[in-house]
Amino acid sequence: MQPYNPEAALADLKREMGEYGGVNPSVSTSAMYAVTNPEILSEIFKGIKGPEKGGRYLYTRHTNPTVDVLSRSLSAMEGTEAARCTASGMAAISCTLLQLCKTGDHIVASRTVYGGTYALLSQIMPEMGICSTFVDPTDITAVAAAITHKTRLIYVETVGNPTLKIADITALAKMAQRRGIKLVVDNTFSPMVVSPALLGADVVVYSMTKFISGGGDIIAGAICSSKDFIETLADLRCGRTVLLGPTLDATVAFKLIQRLPHLAMRMREHGRRALAMARKLEALGVAVTYPGLATHPQHRVIDRIRNKGYGYGGMLTIDCGTTEMANALMDILQNRETFGHIAVSLGYYDTLMSCSGSSTSSEIAPADQAKMGLSPGLVRFSIGLTGALENRLKQLERAVMAAGLIS
Ligand code: PLP
Repeated sequence: MQPYNPEAALADLKREMGEYGGVNPSVSTSAMYAVTNPEILSEIFKGIKGPEKGGRYLYTRHTNPTVDVLSRSLSAMEGTEAARCTASGMAAISCTLLQLCKTGDHIVASRTVYGGTYALLSQIMPEMGICSTFVDPTDITAVAAAITHKTRLIYVETVGNPTLKIADITALAKMAQRRGIKLVVDNTFSPMVVSPALLGADVVVYSMTKFISGGGDIIAGAICSSKDFIETLADLRCGRTVLLGPTLDATVAFKLIQRLPHLAMRMREHGRRALAMARKLEALGVAVTYPGLATHPQHRVIDRIRNKGYGYGGMLTIDCGTTEMANALMDILQNRETFGHIAVSLGYYDTLMSCSGSSTSSEIAPADQAKMGLSPGLVRFSIGLTGALENRLKQLERAVMAAGLIS
């Protein structure tokens, strides 16, 4: 495969200007759009006409001009034929899974996924007769063994939340293709760093709430895939993104359009700082996990599948052993060192930190947390972009020492 440059793909997209020659696209905040004559209305409902078929926009839950600009940018960035935006990352995930699976179907899912996704797969979907088998995404043999004649898809996160295990997308895609099933990848932790569709994934989902936004002020999601699948999701009679109703607001889409041009710069800087901090922590003897470290168990995998020039992402973890130690470290980092915020979520310009086992992964039972390799003392860091790096490294060193992680 040729090296992929998502930044160039985005920049090559024809600029969509606003009204009056505005350098930014216009924000179209209408819920509904008038048609020029009555026949067009029924043609749109029959699917004969639409914005992409020489027709018009109709209703914003179906399609919206501003949201479409964002979708086109995302499909360019991912190298997919099309994309569709949703009101949240969970909406992107649930609409994708409910479009691909029906009652009686089965999913092989990574056991190291976001807690909300785990709850969806383990609690809600079984109520609809769609069951999942959870496996270690890095164990290709275990993934293969879990596939049955009822399996419709494999579901993984490129960089698993919160363990930072790396899924070998190329190998999983080959296997999914061989077995006639789909590979769905949540790439929330690694936009630009990895382009799963170009490695063979059928569907790429995002929580745009995170790095793609970067501002911590937006909830949004996206689904990037083939034209056929995106059209199915938007079908007026069976499309889950239309009929379950998770519409992305046009003003929110506009904010995201404004942030995509500097996503590459932000990802590089998140990655540069996270790598420096991970190296420092490793040298100090702290139990740090970061995909860019040669000691990361799947370091060679990420090196093989990543787009060069974007680093290894902004997420790292420290295993403090116990929840008490984790809390002590976060307390010092926030309240003594002003290093970052004790808060969930990720991809923000400041550093965020949370103890995953008792917060964003608390939907997962303690026994299953242990199976996925999640220690109760694991602190997940989303490394920010603010402050002088040298100063941040000193703050971190003082804090791990004061918390008693090193002597
Ligand atoms: N996927 C991952 C990897 C996440 O970490 C999250 C949220 O934390 C989601 C999906 C859900 O996204 P949202 O909160 O935008 O619905």
